[in-house]
Amino acid sequence: MNQPVRHLQRVAVIGGGPAGLMAAEVLAAGGVQVDVYDAMPSVGRKFLLAGKGGMNITHSEDLPAFRGRYGARAGEVARWLDGFDPQAVRDWIHGLGIDTFVGTSGRVFPLEMKAAPLLRAWLHRLREAGVRFHMRHRWLGWQDGRLRIATPEGEILVEADASVLALGGASWARLGSDGAWAPLLADKNVEVAPLVPSNCGFDVDWSAHFSEKHAGAPLTTVAIAWRGRNGEMLRRQGQFVVTATGIEGSLVYAISAPLRDQIAQSGSATIWLDLLPDLDAGRVLDEVARPRGSRSVSSHLQGRLGIKGVKVGLLHECLSKEAYGDPASLAAALKALPVVLRRPRPIDEAISSAGGVRFEALEGGSAMLRALPGVFVAGEMIDWEAPTGGYLLTACFGSGRAAGRDALDWINRKK
Ligand SMILES: Cc1cc2nc3c(=O)[nH]c(=O)nc-3n(C[C@H](O)[C@H](O)[C@H](O)COP(=O)(O)OP(=O)(O)OC[C@H]3O[C@@H](n4cnc5c(N)ncnc54)[C@H](O)[C@@H]3O)c2cc1C
Repeated sequence: MNQPVRHLQRVAVIGGGPAGLMAAEVLAAGGVQVDVYDAMPSVGRKFLLAGKGGMNITHSEDLPAFRGRYGARAGEVARWLDGFDPQAVRDWIHGLGIDTFVGTSGRVFPLEMKAAPLLRAWLHRLREAGVRFHMRHRWLGWQDGRLRIATPEGEILVEADASVLALGGASWARLGSDGAWAPLLADKNVEVAPLVPSNCGFDVDWSAHFSEKHAGAPLTTVAIAWRGRNGEMLRRQGQFVVTATGIEGSLVYAISAPLRDQIAQSGSATIWLDLLPDLDAGRVLDEVARPRGSRSVSSHLQGRLGIKGVKVGLLHECLSKEAYGDPASLAAALKALPVVLRRPRPIDEAISSAGGVRFEALEGGSAMLRALPGVFVAGEMIDWEAPTGGYLLTACFGSGRAAGRDALDWINRKK
């Protein structure tokens, strides 16, 4: 008697970052054979790097506020979050045997703040579920409907019932996400927005003297004011660092998207530093204008207002001699010192990238490329951005799950 033949459906997941691994998890649970291909010698390299400074995996704020972090793309990202919200992310981590905690800022971390134990447990579970990993396998595009993949033994063609591309953005290329996929998709009529830095630092034309003296100096009590997208003045307090070429750090990253866009439009962007964010302008003027006798302006500022080091350096750097000597101008500058940003730092240095596969290139709100039926996309390679705070990883996880689900639906419909 002839046995019925059951063809095991095969899905190729290209890219083993958090988005690709999530897609693999959903697909394996759906009963298909999953093969993960990654160009690097091991998966999850950027995920591991993200864990170095304290892996911030999601955020505990309420859902409407959380959704709002995705700005213009909040509507599209909501679909991913609906399927895997921040609490689901935490539950999922707990399911891997790793506890989480909420830090004072509301950010959520794995208990040990590290990514390595989480990734180890996750990969173990994926292997147990039958997922196969093919390292040093670089996807190069398609030939006759098959995936072209370069391996250490030479190029191969891979046939799959569906594929999920989760190739990452274009920062930290040495960890695998080099953005080389963008022209391959554009050639297939997939709309791809240019990849640009997100959560990035900026160049400032510091003088050689200032740069040599203050590169690496942190500014811990400062606020920055900047002009928002509709011309309104916005303000945020935090910390950043002066670098040899400009500024970087958490406060700068948080406001980097509108500043990057302003520079693209107008060639530069101005921010205004409040060097004394805890004192109002009237009090600052009173202190600056007090008689200083034979004391220099610098020692007067240090004595009355605690302004010293890099803050004095910034005043000298950004103010004319006359303004520095005039109490009214000096007091105004202490509360709103203009600094001109010339350009974002190169994309490779950024925490993440914006741009990528446009949502408009996706079929009816799903993860499938309209131009390439059976090809799904996930993670940072899609055109959305978010600040740091766990929003990037949460969206990558949710997007990976959505791509996995959509690919399953598609092959099940095809059967
Ligand atoms: C320094 C740093 C700190 C960060 N900290 C945080 C944080 O605390 N919290 C947070 O939420 N986010 C953080 N992020 C961002 C987060 O790590 C990324 O957003 C996330 O890893 C993106 O996931 P992804 O799966 O889309 O892509 P990636 O993690 O970039 O993975 C893409 C994978 O695709 C592979 N690949 C690419 N091209 C090919 C190809 N042609 N063939 C085969 N394989 C290919 C790559 O090798 C890589 O393994 C940080 C990023 C950096 C750089």
